[in-house]
Amino acid sequence: MESLKPLFEPLTNLLDRGGVRKDVASIILSAIALLCSFLAPDDMPIDPAWIAIILCGLPIVVGAFVALVTEFDVKADLLVSIALVASIAIGQYFAAGEVALIMQLGALLEERTVARAQRGIERLVELTPRTARLVLEGGEERIVEAEDVERLQVVRVLPGEYVPVDGIVTKGCTSVDESVLTGESMPIDKQEGDEVSSGSLNQFGTIEVRALRVGEDGSIQRMARLVQSADAGKAKIVRLADRWATWIVVGALTSAAGAYLITGDIVRSVTVLVVFCPCSLVLATPTAIVAAIGNATKHGFLVKEGDALERLSGVKEAAFDKTGTLTKGTPEVLGVVAIPGGRFTDESLYEVLAGAESRSEHPLGKAIVACARRAGTIIPEPEEFRMIPGRGVEVRVSGSKVSVGNARMMQEAGLVTEEWRDAGVEAFEQEGCTVSYIAVEREATGVVALTDALRDESVETVRALYALGVSPVLLTGDHVEAARAAARQAGIRTFLASCRPEDKMAYVESRESAGRAVVMIGDGVNDAPALRRAQVGIAVGGVGNDLAVEAADIAIVEEGMGQLAHLVALSRRMMRTIKVNLTFSMTLNFVAIALAILAVLNPVTGALVHNCGSVLVIVNSSLLLRWKSPRSNARSADTAA
Ligand code: ADP
Ligand code: MG
Repeated sequence: MESLKPLFEPLTNLLDRGGVRKDVASIILSAIALLCSFLAPDDMPIDPAWIAIILCGLPIVVGAFVALVTEFDVKADLLVSIALVASIAIGQYFAAGEVALIMQLGALLEERTVARAQRGIERLVELTPRTARLVLEGGEERIVEAEDVERLQVVRVLPGEYVPVDGIVTKGCTSVDESVLTGESMPIDKQEGDEVSSGSLNQFGTIEVRALRVGEDGSIQRMARLVQSADAGKAKIVRLADRWATWIVVGALTSAAGAYLITGDIVRSVTVLVVFCPCSLVLATPTAIVAAIGNATKHGFLVKEGDALERLSGVKEAAFDKTGTLTKGTPEVLGVVAIPGGRFTDESLYEVLAGAESRSEHPLGKAIVACARRAGTIIPEPEEFRMIPGRGVEVRVSGSKVSVGNARMMQEAGLVTEEWRDAGVEAFEQEGCTVSYIAVEREATGVVALTDALRDESVETVRALYALGVSPVLLTGDHVEAARAAARQAGIRTFLASCRPEDKMAYVESRESAGRAVVMIGDGVNDAPALRRAQVGIAVGGVGNDLAVEAADIAIVEEGMGQLAHLVALSRRMMRTIKVNLTFSMTLNFVAIALAILAVLNPVTGALVHNCGSVLVIVNSSLLLRWKSPRSNARSADTAA
C-alpha cells in the first residue's frame, strides 16, 4: 500500500504547499463565510458555507482519505470527513463548514505550539553570543564577534564552549562533541594538528585553533539540530483524539446507524456524526501548552521542548547543583595557604594557582583568576590545560605540572590528602569553605579556600518547592562540610557531597527508577549528564555554559532562578487545565449525542453546541497565559503590606 503514496503526492503537496491547510487567512475567510451563511436569507443561489467547506474541509477529507488508503491509518480526521460528506449529502452546508473550520483551528494551534518552542530555541541561539576568544600577540585574549575572526588568526576555546571557526588545533588537547555536525554524540579526541569544525562542542580541555575557514556559520547547523530535537518533542504531544480515533469512528458510525434504524430519520444520524467530531478534544491539549509556554517565557524561561512542561508537572524531587546554581558562582578567595617549609610561599603559590586556572571555565577557576588580578598578582601563562569535570584542573605552569582540585582528584592521582593537613584544611572545611588542593609535580604544596554566597532567591525557592511537595536535594562535587553548610543555609534537608558528574547522573537515575521523577537544575559541564538524564533538565546562570544549555530541556535566560517554583506550579496548573478541557469536551459530546438521537438538536444547532464547546476550551486554556501562582500573589501582598 506504501506504493500508492506517490500517486497522491501531487494532490497532498498542492494542498499543503498552497498553505491551504492550517492557514490563518483561509480560516478567517471561512469564518466570515460561515457568518454570512448563518445570517443570509435561505434563498441564496449558493450557500457561502461552501467557502469554508472548500478551504478548510477539502484538505481534511483528502488528507484522511490518503492516510486511510496508503497507510490504513484511521485518524480523527476520518470521522470529520464522514460527517462532512454526510452533512453535505443532506444539504447541511453550514454544519459541514463549521466542523471543518474548527478542526483546522485546532491544527493551527497545534502547529503554533511547536513553532513557539522552536522560536524559544532560536532566541536561545541568538542570545548565546556568537563570540570568539581571539588570542593576541602577547598571548592575551580579546572577545570578538565570531564573524570578525579572520583566516589564520588564532582563537581560544574553553571547555563547555562551541568552537567558533573551522580550523586546526595549534595548542592543547581535548575531546569535542561533533553531534551538531554528525548527529553522533561521541566525544572525539583532538590534539595539536587535528582539524576541528565550527559548531562542535569542546568538552574537557582548553585549545587554541588557527582559523582556516571563516564565515561558515556553525550556529546555523546548531540551530537546525536543536530544532530537530524539538520536532522529536512534538511527536510526544500525540493528539489524544488521534489515539482514540478508531474507537471514535466506530462509535460514531454505530450510533449514527442505530439512530437511523430506530427512528428512520437520516437527519438525526447526520447530527450524531457531526456532534461526535472530536473538535474540542483536539483543541484541549495544544491550546493549554501554547498558553503555558507563553506564560513561562514571560517569566524568563526558554522552553526548548514542547512537552517539557508536561514532564515537569510530574516531578517529585528537585536536584540542585551547588556552585553556580544555589550559589552565585562568583566566589571570593579566602586564602591561599602554602604548606609551611615547602618550596612555595603563599604569594608564589597564588601566582602558580592563578596561572593554572587562567583557562578555566569553572566558576571557582574564574573566581581565583579574578581575585588574583585584583590583588595584583602576576599570572604566568599556562600550557596543556585540561579540566576534569567535577574534580579540578591539570595544567603545566612555568614548566611544572600543577594539579588543582578536590580531595577525590588527589586520591585518584595516588596522593594522600593527609599531606595537606598543615595548610589548615580542616579549619577551612569546618567553616564550610570550598577547599581545593594544590599539587605541583605530584607534591602537596598548599590549598586555596573559597566561599561563595548563596543566591538571594535560593532560600525562598527551596521553601516554595517544599510547599509544592517537591523535595529539594543538593548534589555537589564539593566536600561534605561545604555541602552541609550550603544545604543548611538554603534550607535543604538532603544533600550528597563529593559527587562526580556520573554520581549526579546515577543519583537521578536511581531516584527515577524508584518512581520519583527528578528535575535537575544545574549550570556546569559537570551537570550535563544529569541534566540530560533527568525527567526535566533546567540550565541556570543565564545562557552561559553552552554544554549545560544544550543538555537541558529548559533554560533560564536571566540570572537567577526565583521563578522556579512558579514554573513547577504552572506546569501542574497546565495539566489540570488539560484534564478539565478533556473532561468537559467529552461530557459535552456525550450529552450532544444523546440530544441528537432524541432530535432535540439538528445538524446546525448540533454544530453550534459543538462550537461553543471548542470556544470554552480555548478560553479556559488562555487563562493560563496570565496565570500567577497563588504563592507569588501571597508574597507580593506580603511585601505590599
Ligand atoms: P558543584 O557540583 O558544586 O558545581 P563541581 O562538581 O564543579 O562542583 O566541583 C567539585 C569540586 O571540585 C569543587 O568543590 C572544587 O573543590 C573542585 N574543583 C572543580 N573544578 C575546579 C577548578 N577549576 N579549580 C579548583 N577546584 C576545582
Ligand atoms: Mg556547578
